[in-house]
Amino acid sequence: MSKKFDYIIIGAGSAGCVIANKLSANTKYNVLLIEAGGSDKKFWIRTPIGYAFTYNDARVNWKYNTQPDKNLNNRSSYWPRGKVIGGSSSINAMAYFRGLENDFSDWEKAGAEGWGWKNVLASYNALENHISKKENYGNGPICVSDLSEQMHPFSKHFMAAARELNWPKPNNTAISSEGLGYVHNTTRNGKRFSSADAFLHPAKKRKNLHIIKNAIVEKLIINNSQSDGIIYEVNNVKKCAYANKEIILSAGAIGSPQLLQLSGIGPEEILKKAGVKLVHHLPEVGQGLQDHLAITKYFMTNERTLNSDIGNFVGKVTAGLRYLLTKSGPLSVPVNQTSGFVRSSVKSIVPDLQIYANPIIYSTNNNGKTYVGKKSGFLLSAQPSRFSSRGSINIQSSDVNIPPLINPNSLHTKYDKLMAIKACQMIQTIAATKAMESVTKKACDPNFSKFDNDALLNNFRELASTVYHPCCTCRMGLSPSDSVINSRLQVHGIKKLRVVDASSFPNITSGNINAPTMMLAYRASDIILEDNL
Ligand SMILES: Cc1cc2nc3c(=O)[nH]c(=O)nc-3n(C[C@H](O)[C@H](O)[C@H](O)COP(=O)(O)OP(=O)(O)OC[C@H]3O[C@@H](n4cnc5c(N)ncnc54)[C@H](O)[C@@H]3O)c2cc1C
Repeated sequence: MSKKFDYIIIGAGSAGCVIANKLSANTKYNVLLIEAGGSDKKFWIRTPIGYAFTYNDARVNWKYNTQPDKNLNNRSSYWPRGKVIGGSSSINAMAYFRGLENDFSDWEKAGAEGWGWKNVLASYNALENHISKKENYGNGPICVSDLSEQMHPFSKHFMAAARELNWPKPNNTAISSEGLGYVHNTTRNGKRFSSADAFLHPAKKRKNLHIIKNAIVEKLIINNSQSDGIIYEVNNVKKCAYANKEIILSAGAIGSPQLLQLSGIGPEEILKKAGVKLVHHLPEVGQGLQDHLAITKYFMTNERTLNSDIGNFVGKVTAGLRYLLTKSGPLSVPVNQTSGFVRSSVKSIVPDLQIYANPIIYSTNNNGKTYVGKKSGFLLSAQPSRFSSRGSINIQSSDVNIPPLINPNSLHTKYDKLMAIKACQMIQTIAATKAMESVTKKACDPNFSKFDNDALLNNFRELASTVYHPCCTCRMGLSPSDSVINSRLQVHGIKKLRVVDASSFPNITSGNINAPTMMLAYRASDIILEDNL
């Protein structure tokens, strides 16, 4: 059985939901959106703090693991990814950051013509609807909430530390200005507001938008260097669907390169090893992987933090009831409460570190299970904003159900090793402020404050963890020798095929990457419509 559509979008994630909305807004186009996961109507998806549960729930999560990472002492890392309507925007931590101006100048320098700051800024302004107790502005579909009124009172100590260090006070962290501030979030009325909430659910009733859930796309059908359709499996039955106009691959930074390689588009050697027939040698497919790595340190305190509120049975029940009755309280606010961009040294031309300061301590095991301690504590975390190392995603089999090999290749460059040390030094500096010392009972790693640079780098290798921002694996650029797609997101050498998701980034952006992914998909939809006039 097969069907014909104008456009087929693979993956209903942060990017796919935006494109499905924009393309189906024109009733003359028949649009198919196909997604491996199921419905997002689940309590722990809707509840902001439910992030701790969906984090390792195989019903909504691909639950990947990386290869041993040489420069992280051969550690393998757990990489969650959304497998559900809304994709990773349905299981992420909801922090909203646009990225900094220099990130997008670098996109343009890499060959992504038209993706400089001026243009992306106009798109952000069109997309956002800022909501706060004081003022609302913007008419866009994405709700960006300022929850500072509801943040834990302990966070005032982080703000005092920032003042002591003479960091500027950002007036809105979402806008990504420099300094430490309250994180703005993709929530609305105490509930998660995913890309599906912003773009897909409002469009679901359109007769020309067809959504197939729980269907895994196995490969693209390519004839004469043109992508004509897809082969997918749903309820154990294999089916085909065809696209008159285009196929848009939005399966995310792991799924998109995996599907290109499974379809015979990628580095010849990798395909040969996996037993896939070469259709088009495109060496950069799956290469260029970037991510953020953070080092986190934990401290005990005598003051109340979120641990006192939700770390014990009574606290959990009270917070649960409060949430059910009023959609407020600790369960309605994500745990990343204060964050921002700072300079690692006076010589830094732009802010090059992102800081998180959270009024809670918790730990996560390598299978993704999270434990919240009963005793009050806080954490300080720092991550270099723009690591330069690049890793890879490569298939190891012709079967879509065998996960690809993820090789992050962390800390490969000298610059990255230096920035890892600077991230650690920044935590030492914040922890040593009078504001933080006055509320610290004890550091969980008391030696850390005295570590020299070698010991700091070793500590980073031993403990740093991903912040779940893989990107750049089908990156935009000038030609097949440096990229997978051009600045109009078309796959080099294959007609009727684009890649639009976090894998399309030429380089990682500063801060969390959900906002830039939705912005990219929004602009890409206009490009697709323009090219098909
Ligand atoms: C735990 C976690 C926390 C995060 N926290 C934040 C945060 O606080 N702020 C922030 O800005 N960013 C955060 N991120 C990152 C951000 O959410 C992602 O970068 C972004 O959602 C990626 O969007 P995407 O469209 O590229 O991919 P996704 O949203 O992952 O969508 C890809 C979709 O394609 C589907 N798919 C894949 N393969 C196939 C196939 N073969 N057939 C059919 N469908 C397929 C997937 O199931 C998925 O739904 C977080 C991510 C995670 C996982």
